[in-house]
Amino acid sequence: MYRTLYGPQGAHINLDGREIINMASNNYLGLANDPDLVAAAKEAIDKYGVGPSASRNIVGNFAIHDELEEALAKFKGVEAVLVFNSGVAANTGVIPVLVGKGDTIYSDELNHGSIIDGCRLSRANVKVYPHMDLAKLEEMLKEPTEGKKLLVADAVFSMDGDLAPLPEMAALAEKYGAMFMVDDAHGDGVMGPYGKGTVEHFGLRDKVTVETGSLSKAFGAAGGFVAGTKEFIEELRPKARSFIFTASPLAPCLTAAALAAINKIADDDTLVKRLWENREYFAKRMEEAGLNTGSTVTPVIPVIVGDAEKAEELSARLYEKGVYAQAIKFPVVPRGTARLRVMISAAHTREDLEKAADAIIEITKEMGII
Ligand SMILES: *Cc1c(COP(=O)(O)O)cnc(C)c1O
Repeated sequence: MYRTLYGPQGAHINLDGREIINMASNNYLGLANDPDLVAAAKEAIDKYGVGPSASRNIVGNFAIHDELEEALAKFKGVEAVLVFNSGVAANTGVIPVLVGKGDTIYSDELNHGSIIDGCRLSRANVKVYPHMDLAKLEEMLKEPTEGKKLLVADAVFSMDGDLAPLPEMAALAEKYGAMFMVDDAHGDGVMGPYGKGTVEHFGLRDKVTVETGSLSKAFGAAGGFVAGTKEFIEELRPKARSFIFTASPLAPCLTAAALAAINKIADDDTLVKRLWENREYFAKRMEEAGLNTGSTVTPVIPVIVGDAEKAEELSARLYEKGVYAQAIKFPVVPRGTARLRVMISAAHTREDLEKAADAIIEITKEMGII
């Protein structure tokens, strides 16, 4: 069964009735319970009520949706954005609009499940290459194909915290005439100046055909989006099935909260900087203790211990010490690479991070891992 929250997300949570330090959620900037977001959501409920009651293409398009799309487009440095009710819906909706039967998709084996589902729904031919193996990717791109080509990148891998080599991938896409799609669900609000994302971090805006993102992680609300040219977004509106067939478009209160998040970080990088300071402190503590953090370069920090039972034991013993971080094992990650996954937030104080790092180091020593 799931563990249950009896209060809001934050650096400290009430989990199953117990106060605990939370190192397991995607609340990178600590915005999920930010007073500005909460106030914006309440105001939107007063103005628009609760339920959208219709798909956006019928009578469920609220002014606040348009406002969020405009703000997001400006924030991401693109011409236009279409907001979906989740990142999953954005991926499953957009990929079948980009490619179809007879076309070819090139996808990393560790790409997110919703990218995989979008690929399947498109009915295009899908070529999956080993994680980050660009030589293999190029080999595949060289094979003769009919129809369009789409290279799809998950920018920040959520189990390892490593970054896809987007500049090299963009160059390959260009060389072989493929469209280039980037899903930046874990990069938005985290990577690049002001958290504008991984594409901005690498300076690749003009190399990317479309980008998808989530409003449920660093932005502290819920929802997803597709960012691209005006022309493409207009093509997408009547075609994306996960958009046109749902009478659950993003609720006005969540739309308002996401808008408040964008407004909060667009010209103030305090939270993004704090997130990275916290990330650097914690990663350094783990590395100095001799723990294996794999290839992370982001606030997702795996502590790789090998066996699934060891990862479970570490997580359970940590819980007893008042810190929650999840054990991740096969089939989510390859056998023999089971880990504790630590998610760093700007909301963590230095004291929280110290307590968590001390506890992990103490337990892994007792377990003979270090
Ligand atoms: C979380 C995630 C999604 C889904 O976004 P939601 O808004 O949570 O539905 C899509 N892609 C990636 C890479 C993700 O990590």
